[in-house]
Amino acid sequence: MSNIAFIGLGQMGNPMALNLLKKGHSVQVFDINKEAVNNLESQGARGCPTPAETVKDCDFIITMLPNGNLVNEVIFGSQGAVNNAKDDCLFIDMSTIHPLESDQIRQKLSEMNIEFMDAPVGRTSDNAVTGTLLILAGGTPKQIAKAQDILLCMGSEIIEAGGPGQGIRVKLINNFMSIALNALSAEAATLCEALNLPLDVAIGVMEGTPAIKSHFKTTWPNKVLKGDISPAFMINHAHKDLGIATDVANQLNVPLPMGAAAREVYSQARAMGRGSEDWTAILEQSRVNSGLKSR
Ligand code: NAD
Repeated sequence: MSNIAFIGLGQMGNPMALNLLKKGHSVQVFDINKEAVNNLESQGARGCPTPAETVKDCDFIITMLPNGNLVNEVIFGSQGAVNNAKDDCLFIDMSTIHPLESDQIRQKLSEMNIEFMDAPVGRTSDNAVTGTLLILAGGTPKQIAKAQDILLCMGSEIIEAGGPGQGIRVKLINNFMSIALNALSAEAATLCEALNLPLDVAIGVMEGTPAIKSHFKTTWPNKVLKGDISPAFMINHAHKDLGIATDVANQLNVPLPMGAAAREVYSQARAMGRGSEDWTAILEQSRVNSGLKSR
């Protein structure tokens, strides 16, 4: 069993710390919210007055905080965790923070010969309660092996993301995609309602198409990712269809900001001479816009 410091006892941190306690670990906790500390104390944790006190004699120091500034503050502040961290401890930041901030924290700790890994989580606070979080582990294989037992008290699955810093990066990509798709999905559902089309009919159709199955899994693998942009479905046609959707929505007073932005993406591709290419060549357009070399 390990001695674990847990800092940040909110919606996620509280049940995660509780799951560590339930599995028999000794857990020392800190949060600026005294009630959160008292709650964990009543369940067997030792509450501490500062991050520096919290990490005394701990093998693992877990942070689960709202942002990178706070992670920095609890680690490097005047009462920060580094003041009392054991030489052989491992810091594990499970918060969702900016990847460059995470890199800087790892770098600063490494200059003090202290190890750090990023291990943000996927899924929701319900999964935090049931110990079924998805852990996106961004450490070295050695760090992940060292942390595995305690990570599996909080999550049911660990994905080795590919090295230090890659856990927080894959978390960023996942959140970008799913949060943006949420907004696009809301536009599609609203247009559906405005057209008096039952949503379940639309979902039934889209379940068999890239709309729900995703381009990553359907259209891209055999086309653009293989370097084939000969048209199976032309950018010109995709542009026309998006235009029809935005025109219809306009007549019905349904604003489609995501849809309108997407149409501009296709307009740009046409302006760059890609009208007769496959719609998956939108990936190439995006790469070129970002200064990446054309494949
Ligand atoms: P939360 O706001 O519920 O909890 C944050 C906790 O940090 C609070 O208890 C707060 O008092 C504490 N805190 C703030 N400043 C502090 C400081 N200086 N020292 C000590 N404690 C401090 O947030 P949450 O929902 O638990 O999320 C935590 C992290 O997990 C975030 O980075 C979030 O993006 C990420 N996340 C959340 C979910 C979710 O479903 N809620 C899912 C995945 C990832």
